[in-house]
Amino acid sequence: MDALITLLPGDGIGPEVTAAAHRALKQVAEVYGHTFRFEVKLVGGAAIDETGSPLPPDTMASCMDSAAVFLGAVGGPKWSGPHAMVRPEKGLLELRAELGVYANLRPVKVMDELVDASPLKAGIIRGVDLVVVRELTGGIYFGKKTRDETVASDLCVYHTHEVERIVRVAARLASGRRNKVCSVDKANVLETSRLWRDVADRTLEREFPEIETETLLVDAAAMHLLSRPRDFDVIVTENMFGDILTDEASMLAGSMGMLPSASLGDSTRGLYEPIHGSAPDIAGLDVANPCAAIASAAMLLRHSLSLVEEADAVDAAIAAAIAAGARTADIARDGETPISTTEMTDRILAGLG
Ligand code: NAD
Repeated sequence: MDALITLLPGDGIGPEVTAAAHRALKQVAEVYGHTFRFEVKLVGGAAIDETGSPLPPDTMASCMDSAAVFLGAVGGPKWSGPHAMVRPEKGLLELRAELGVYANLRPVKVMDELVDASPLKAGIIRGVDLVVVRELTGGIYFGKKTRDETVASDLCVYHTHEVERIVRVAARLASGRRNKVCSVDKANVLETSRLWRDVADRTLEREFPEIETETLLVDAAAMHLLSRPRDFDVIVTENMFGDILTDEASMLAGSMGMLPSASLGDSTRGLYEPIHGSAPDIAGLDVANPCAAIASAAMLLRHSLSLVEEADAVDAAIAAAIAAGARTADIARDGETPISTTEMTDRILAGLG
């Protein structure tokens, strides 16, 4: 396999965790005899500093030419003042839209060894294995925005076809898992959610009659995620609800540093990134957990390059390192000595091939 992969380290801990994912991909290429070519490009605050734009044309061109794109994280206080003219996050939203990656898959799997790393009770979270499928290119994040001295507005828009295609992604995913889809909306208040519910119900009923379906309002879903997380298989929801629910769900797995994501569209080219942000509070200290980034690299191998055996091997190497007691600070319990980002990466890669 010969593939071009664009790496977008971004800001804060982005470069540190991207370096870990890069090492994992290089080792996979070496062990399994593939040729991965890497282009490293600017995005987010780093790109604003250098070029004035959070997504320079050169970055976008490289992403469009690639088989897959890996992104660390963007953002930080330097670029986030209330009067900032251009924001790093704008680059990320544009990138997702340009790549046409409308389905963001966020798996949440609780490893037995980490049940005590979560602030939630072991009896509730043991065995959790769910995927949130978040709609990524529609809704309030992309709607028209207005602001004057005293009033601001964000428009939320959803089209039938956007709901249909994301529900199909969720249902197909569930077919290979436990056959359950839970659709989350706010249909008691929002018109976009009433459309979402009509279309989701119809699509699931007509096209996927074998799937067990459930519908929850987002406020109730936030509660059920904590009270009965094991019941969920695939959760499908709109852009903002998915953004919020997955940060909540990260606490099931113990830390934001454990959760990977894949953003997919109609082609095999995908965008892969840990769900966490740039974590300015720990940036540059070599303490960030690289597991989410390395697991995102495994998703890249699986979804964009169809290298299933290699992806399984990377996931197994992460699990083996955790099972052997390797812990970065975010998942270390009292009495456990945390190791650095670099050492955690070394320990994972030692188990790969
Ligand atoms: P964050 O995810 O950066 O951090 C939240 C908390 O989790 C922090 O305490 C951080 O130290 C910790 N954390 C995150 N990742 C970790 C890791 N790998 N290992 C150990 N601990 C980790 O969220 P935030 O602080 O709300 O946002 C910081 C910046 O990141 C903001 O500018 C925000 O806009 C941006 N952001 C970017 C993305 C992205 O690039 N996809 C996503 C979310 C937030």
